[in-house]
Amino acid sequence: MNNKQFKYPDTAAFEYVTNALAARGVTYKDIADIAYQMQSNFIDDLDIKEVQKDTISVLHKREVLNNAMVGLELDRLATEGQLSEPLEAIIRNDAGVFGVDEGLALSIANIYGTIGVTNYGYIDRNKVGIIKKLDEDKNEHVSNTFIDDLIGAIASAVSAKIAHRYS
Ligand code: MG
Repeated sequence: MNNKQFKYPDTAAFEYVTNALAARGVTYKDIADIAYQMQSNFIDDLDIKEVQKDTISVLHKREVLNNAMVGLELDRLATEGQLSEPLEAIIRNDAGVFGVDEGLALSIANIYGTIGVTNYGYIDRNKVGIIKKLDEDKNEHVSNTFIDDLIGAIASAVSAKIAHRYS
């Protein structure tokens, strides 16, 4: 199916992603805080307001929105028990060998090159900022399989964008 009349719904995609994050208690400022933590080690006098602006700009990119929408929707469907088995059980249990959550995240992390990918690995390992809170909130009632990776990846892309600007 290829409808030439179809206009890509950028605004609706942005709203879907920001609303889905808000439903889990995450704002763009939480994502900016992670990126700030990563980049303030390297850039003197980095302004959090600048990082927040970059975060909003990264959150408008189609590559980011597309991958984030798919992951956030799968978390929502898994939380509501609406996926088919065995996918439902795999996502609900955040099975370590699944890897699709990291795959979507890497598509986001590398939009500004490899700096984003190395940052993503660090953030994921060290559970920086809001990711630590999401990780601690893990329970059988809600699927956190995609959201933590997506937030880490968006923060990594923001870090990479800033790193390139200052280099
Ligand atoms: Mg995950």
